[in-house]
Amino acid sequence: MPARSPKKVVLAVVDSLKPEMLDAAIEEGRAPALAALRERGTYVPDCISTFPSVTPVASAAIATGAGPGEHHIPSMNWFHRGEERYIEYGSSFPASRTFGLVRSLYDTVYNMNMAHLSRALKTVFEHLDDAGLRTACTTYLIYRGRTRHDPSGESVYRLIGEALQFNHAVYGARELFYADLFDSRNTGCTSALGLPGQRDRHTACVGAYLVEHDLFDFLLFSLPDNDTHSHRVGPEGQVRSIAEADRALERIMHVAGGVDAFLEDHAVIVMSDHSQTKVEERVNLGDAFESWHVLAPADAAPTDAELALCPSARSAMVYVLDEARHAALVPRAVKAAAEFEGVDLVVTRANGQAVVRSARGELRFAPGGEVADRRGRSWTVEGDHAALELDVADGRATSETYPDALGRLWSALECPHSGDVLLSASPGFEFVDWGGADHLGGGSHGSLHRGDSEGVLLLCGLDLPDREQWSVADVAPLVLEHFRVRFGG
Ligand SMILES: [Zn+2]
Repeated sequence: MPARSPKKVVLAVVDSLKPEMLDAAIEEGRAPALAALRERGTYVPDCISTFPSVTPVASAAIATGAGPGEHHIPSMNWFHRGEERYIEYGSSFPASRTFGLVRSLYDTVYNMNMAHLSRALKTVFEHLDDAGLRTACTTYLIYRGRTRHDPSGESVYRLIGEALQFNHAVYGARELFYADLFDSRNTGCTSALGLPGQRDRHTACVGAYLVEHDLFDFLLFSLPDNDTHSHRVGPEGQVRSIAEADRALERIMHVAGGVDAFLEDHAVIVMSDHSQTKVEERVNLGDAFESWHVLAPADAAPTDAELALCPSARSAMVYVLDEARHAALVPRAVKAAAEFEGVDLVVTRANGQAVVRSARGELRFAPGGEVADRRGRSWTVEGDHAALELDVADGRATSETYPDALGRLWSALECPHSGDVLLSASPGFEFVDWGGADHLGGGSHGSLHRGDSEGVLLLCGLDLPDREQWSVADVAPLVLEHFRVRFGG
């Protein structure tokens, strides 16, 4: 008798979903679909994000099963050494405008997938496409797959896209629906060009169509509106946007006849990319480097600049551009950053080691050694453990405050697109972006701190192996295993 084919998988990524707020939404009766899934499945309330804990980096980890050291997306804003220019994926509308709206959209829609994301890795879509499975994706930052899609659709938004010269084809999941720019078929759903507040509904509309017509084995069901809402009102306000995300899940399950009928032939994963914490203070990184020649977004003489500064919410990166003075300038940049209020961790690399500076001291570490972390990797650690609030005992290193600190920092340092100096903001602080925008009074994320980093992983209908600490990068391998497709290779 042939083996029963695996259930179809829906991977719902709720941007910024904070575990405490999911619990609150369920308790208040505002998230019945998520409540039903939590009741029937396995709930991990502390699945660790990447560092920096920002959406492009975490999305790429979710889609590839690897950290930035391998997938090569370093942050939301970064400096491209090869092209000698800033890349801005859309920290805010003013930030995108600073670098040019079309350029920023181009980098986000095309270059992130086709140029910046490492070719040495396969995305979960590429793995499944190669195995002959039917992949589908609603508007998600990482969509790279094996099917060519020309810009399509006839809505007025598509015409706006065309006027902005979004004419190029992409390679994506077999079914790709991306903010009205790519529509692999006519579902009748529109996203108003991906405007906040409309995006979860677009995903729901497309998802319901795909379920109804049985068009996927794997669907990445992207629910980004929670992030926007939480940035504006703060993470305590998430119940309202989680309720919206819940409605989207309810809608696709309704097509199959309700939760239990849906779960008969679908497995469901609900996860966060990262979490959020409250912003109480804004800091302008430019003030810390006032006396330096910092590369401006449209610098007339870029070769004169000493530094590029890349604020990305509650994280930031500093690039030393003056190659001749590189060795002398990096320590000076570290010192300037470390003395700046609002900067918690200053991380750089020296002599093959990671060097972490905080007000609590200096710690150096490198892979390989006598100390194991909760994810089973081993390290050599020297200096002040307090710098990362690291608890080292019985051959194990753990940090409650900075979960998976060593592994995440090392991966960030290994990313060839990362800056020379990486910064993680103190609790309550956010770096003002290049457009002058911040989320003061609202919420943000990006730091190594657990408040930004611990998200939801909720699985229903998938086997969950025993593991001490889960990371967003563990999900792609789980999905592949479910379909009996080999990870890697
Ligand atoms: Zn965000």
